[in-house]
Amino acid sequence: MKEVVAGIDIGGTNTVFGLVDKTGNILAENSLKTTDYPEIKNFVSALAAAINKLVEGKSNLKLAGIGIGAPNANYHKGTIELAPNLAWKGIVPLAEYIRKKIDVPVIVTNDANAAAMGEMIFGGAKKMKDFIILTLGTGLGSGIVINGEVVYGHTGFAGELGHTIVVPGGRDCGCGRQGCYETYASASGLVRTVLYMLSEMREESSLRDIPPSELTAKKIAEAAAKKDPIAVEALDYTAEILAFGIANAIGFSSPEAVFLFGGLAQAGEMLFIPTRKYVDQNVQPIFKGTVKILPSGVPESNAAVLGAAALAWNELKK
Ligand SMILES: [Zn+2]
Repeated sequence: MKEVVAGIDIGGTNTVFGLVDKTGNILAENSLKTTDYPEIKNFVSALAAAINKLVEGKSNLKLAGIGIGAPNANYHKGTIELAPNLAWKGIVPLAEYIRKKIDVPVIVTNDANAAAMGEMIFGGAKKMKDFIILTLGTGLGSGIVINGEVVYGHTGFAGELGHTIVVPGGRDCGCGRQGCYETYASASGLVRTVLYMLSEMREESSLRDIPPSELTAKKIAEAAAKKDPIAVEALDYTAEILAFGIANAIGFSSPEAVFLFGGLAQAGEMLFIPTRKYVDQNVQPIFKGTVKILPSGVPESNAAVLGAAALAWNELKK
């Protein structure tokens, strides 16, 4: 019998899951539409059935544990709490519900903490004890690892760098406050910056031909690669604010590396080069040159499942 764990990533729209062995091979995978299950109990039944089917579909596999990445997940309690993008309201005891269907250890955390675990077990942080991962998508998620452990904090929700304020009185944020890091340093933050620059600057730009609702970080990065002046300026500004947050985080936990992951990180060197420059300019002198700014070592397409699986493997190791 070969031991595997199930890695599950619950998103607002889709839930993807796979069976993952100790070395990070995904042996089988599938997905469900999260929005098809407005009742949590129906969701858990469908998910458990789908996972059992994956295990039975392969011979000689033994399911040893389940790791789950989900929005507003509480690692300490195994719950999802007050998640604005999910239909399940209030506090959902997800781990308990799943354990009733499949009797193995079930570990729950948010997607950025799962990404940190994926980086540590399967990615670029295998030999590191202190690092931070920033997931730069619609928002900015952060997983902070100190001395080999993901930081969960008193409440279980630690690592919300995305909602630290980097511009007092700045852009409105979904959390109800203003000037949060994620309103600038994320894929959607970059789009907001471009929309502002297009209205305020007179430079010609290929981005003017794209309807605002179709503008993406990817299209902006492509324009920047062709030296489009507004795209270049917007990426530089985004890198500068990204670097402010990184410089602050370095002062907090002195990481060996900061990994960048997600839609905005796909801009590659167009983002990494200015970000490294601005980190160097803004970090306290004692930390200068001590921190590597790196792309994630986990392939984007499998990262969510691998991160959740890494969470389970790490727990089983304890
Ligand atoms: Zn916020």
